[in-house]
Amino acid sequence: MPAEQGAPLTVATEQAMADELRSWLRGEVIDRGHPRYDEARAVWNGLIDRRPALVARCAGTADVVQAVRVAREYRPAVSIRGGGHQVAGSAVCDDGLVIDLSRMKGVHVDPAARTARAQAGVTWGELDAETQLFGLATPGGEISATGIAGLTLGGGFGFVMRTFGLSCDSVRSLEIVTADGVVRTVSREEEPELFWAARGGGRGLGVVTSFEFGLHRLGPEVAGVLALHPYERAEEVMRAWRDATYTAPDTVTPELLLWSVPADPAIPQELHRSNCVMIGAVYGGPTGDGAVSALAPQRELGPPLVDLSGTLPYVALQSANTWRFPDGERYFMKSHFADELSDEAIRTLVDWYSRRPTPESLIVVRTLGGAVARVGPEDSAFAYRSARYNVSIDAGWRDPALDETAIGWARSAWDAMKPFSSGGTYVNFAGLGEDAGELRGAVFGPHEERLERTRAVYDPEGLFAMAARRP
Ligand SMILES: Cc1cc2nc3c(=O)[nH]c(=O)nc-3n(C[C@H](O)[C@H](O)[C@H](O)COP(=O)(O)OP(=O)(O)OC[C@H]3O[C@@H](n4cnc5c(N)ncnc54)[C@H](O)[C@@H]3O)c2cc1C
Repeated sequence: MPAEQGAPLTVATEQAMADELRSWLRGEVIDRGHPRYDEARAVWNGLIDRRPALVARCAGTADVVQAVRVAREYRPAVSIRGGGHQVAGSAVCDDGLVIDLSRMKGVHVDPAARTARAQAGVTWGELDAETQLFGLATPGGEISATGIAGLTLGGGFGFVMRTFGLSCDSVRSLEIVTADGVVRTVSREEEPELFWAARGGGRGLGVVTSFEFGLHRLGPEVAGVLALHPYERAEEVMRAWRDATYTAPDTVTPELLLWSVPADPAIPQELHRSNCVMIGAVYGGPTGDGAVSALAPQRELGPPLVDLSGTLPYVALQSANTWRFPDGERYFMKSHFADELSDEAIRTLVDWYSRRPTPESLIVVRTLGGAVARVGPEDSAFAYRSARYNVSIDAGWRDPALDETAIGWARSAWDAMKPFSSGGTYVNFAGLGEDAGELRGAVFGPHEERLERTRAVYDPEGLFAMAARRP
């Protein structure tokens, strides 16, 4: 009778597992006594303090296969780490095995075929740097330090998603090690059900070791809007912005943030850290007159405090806000999808933003549609193709004494926005464990049952059950 998956291990079992992993892996095996144990168990969110038994820092696919094999033998709790940026800290687990891919950094771009193969430890900044050498890009997340793995497997919102789709929509194939230790290359043609599941529902299916992305022509310079409006006019600006999103072409991806003015030398100092409405939009095509006229409605929302619109290198755009989300600070996020943004919803957002616990806390409204909505609802496991907006409530703070206040603020603001939601919550913006438990159906929506069936085929004994349950 095998031990129950995820049951606590004895000290002797932890030691035996460590010895076995060390005898097989090219990469590093870090146990509780290792001098870099605390570094290896830390994730981006400083709120997370989990103490795994072992971290297997894999150097390649063969290491992942061995880690999976050893996990089958000893049956510890298993978590998988890509870039370590999931706000819920699901990359690490207590008392189990972390299969850590963060050292797997290979990227190969084939400019003729317009594809890139990237290993699962790569971040968006690293992938963009390689693809932009050829004036190509795959649509990624908005912060360059985030991992490509978790983001793509959960869907992937980005600055050019209305033009090129979600990150998962550009995946041509991926290499995955399933619970039986088999290395599979999955695509539309090969194991299509697993390929379907991995694009938007990719939690707990196996360990993805690399992605093959299709690339699009973009950059090196892109055109965008960045306009900061006075907070006193928040509701008026938001209503005008909402109306402008109705007619935005698919080449334009607009977003709106209720946030603090950054301490940027390009902005007058007296405005720094005050509240504002930030309008951002990116044109997913060449710079020039076409971009300027397509973006104009996003710029013409009344007199701004500051207008920093213009052109900039795509890699600079992708990393422009990374410094505002430093590693090790404390974070909590929750989001809703919404089909409409009524005047009342706007009033509710402004009301809750006014009560934000810290200047680092923000509310982001992203506009979906365009290429995101052109993918059929059954074509991938991402469940919210038809939603027009995603509204994300992001608390950020430093002082542990504020934990309850900051998390409470985000949860209350999310509750207040429930009546305006079209249903569902985005797995990649899911805070602690709550979205994975009682809100499981909300995360994967109508696809949850099909995902369960797929997991049962590829992981009948629940080796990755913890990864499947957590966001
Ligand atoms: C500052 C910041 C900005 C963000 N911006 C965006 C954004 O613009 N758009 C967006 O869509 N999201 C965004 N996110 C959310 C982001 O998509 C998720 O946090 C995502 O999980 C990050 O991927 P990761 O590899 O760093 O995650 P990790 O924490 O390493 O992984 C999260 C989970 O994904 C699964 N996973 C990770 N790697 C693998 C793998 N190789 N194989 C199988 N499963 C794996 C595991 O279940 C793991 O627990 C942002 C997050 C942060 C912190």
